[in-house]
Amino acid sequence: MGGPMTALLNKIPVPAWRQIQRKNFYYWEELADFLELSPDLRKEVLPHPRFVLNLPRRLAEKIKKNTTDDPLFLQFVPLKKELDSSPGFVSEPVQDSSFQKTKKLLQKYQGRALILTTSACAMHCRFCFRQNFPYETQTADFAQELQYLQQHTDLNEVILSGGDPLSLTDGQLAQLFAGIETIPHIKKIRFHTRFPIGIPERIDNSFLQILESSSKQIIFIIHCNHPQEIDIDVAASLKRLQKLGIPVLNQAVLLKGVNDNEKTLLDLSETLVQNGIIPYYLHQLDLVEGAAHFAVSDERAQELIQFLQENTSGFAVPRLVREVPGQPSKSPIPLPSCG
Ligand SMILES: *Cc1c(COP(=O)(O)O)cnc(C)c1O
Ligand code: SF4
Repeated sequence: MGGPMTALLNKIPVPAWRQIQRKNFYYWEELADFLELSPDLRKEVLPHPRFVLNLPRRLAEKIKKNTTDDPLFLQFVPLKKELDSSPGFVSEPVQDSSFQKTKKLLQKYQGRALILTTSACAMHCRFCFRQNFPYETQTADFAQELQYLQQHTDLNEVILSGGDPLSLTDGQLAQLFAGIETIPHIKKIRFHTRFPIGIPERIDNSFLQILESSSKQIIFIIHCNHPQEIDIDVAASLKRLQKLGIPVLNQAVLLKGVNDNEKTLLDLSETLVQNGIIPYYLHQLDLVEGAAHFAVSDERAQELIQFLQENTSGFAVPRLVREVPGQPSKSPIPLPSCG
């Protein structure tokens, strides 16, 4: 090994956010020690889950010690109850594979296509609907995807998803942006990301420069399920996006034990809005294997939305939806009419 290429790569400095990410918790014993779990609580943890543990330090620091009853613990720490099988919970609940147009591009809806930019994420969420997706991860080459966008002139928006698009390096993102820039009918670039919640340092100058140099309208949809996920650093990093005229919206998943109560959801909406972030969707859980313990009934979900409607500004109430494969959009779950 060696040679001129390796020498060149060695000269590229590793960005600060990547160094932070390398310190994530990946080993359950180390995390159990950090969280000071009692021997009994340790028995509830699933040591070697198929979808591996991956948790940024800053999120682990927010978790209460020696309990499993914590909204962040439940979202990120694998538990043995993930192994319980439950009727209706399947490997690929939203059938992404059947909407694959190229190796890394899905199109389900009119006007917008979604690129699976990478399989990597800042953190691993136990309820992730895409945890079993057979990602093509050999390269960060998007030639086929760009060609699809180019050829489909009815598209006007490209969604960068994954995994998490902010896992890409700035070099990879810049290249993808350069490709999109050459396609005049694409007017919007939308990011779906949870990165700023786990590693807000990712929104650094070099990344902001890529966004700033694009002629397209950029939109950020972050994914935050509990008000504790937002703090001063997270808010400040999102503010940097907002200062560039980038709208920031939030989507959340309704999760039993995490946010399925009036106070938490109201708090979440108020905290988001306080930081200039508009609640977009509240998703009903996608029925992925291992996530049955997170399910909340539609009746309860409707009650919670009704409560929000009666207690906060209209724009602070997210739309309650679920994904039904084959439908032309996410499917709204309407409130029952009274009487
Ligand atoms: C959810 C989703 C979108 C975005 O839908 P919106 O309702 O516009 O937020 C786009 N493409 C795919 C494949 C999706 O799963
Ligand atoms: S960040 Fe998003 S894609 Fe990644 S594991 Fe969590 S829910 Fe899944």
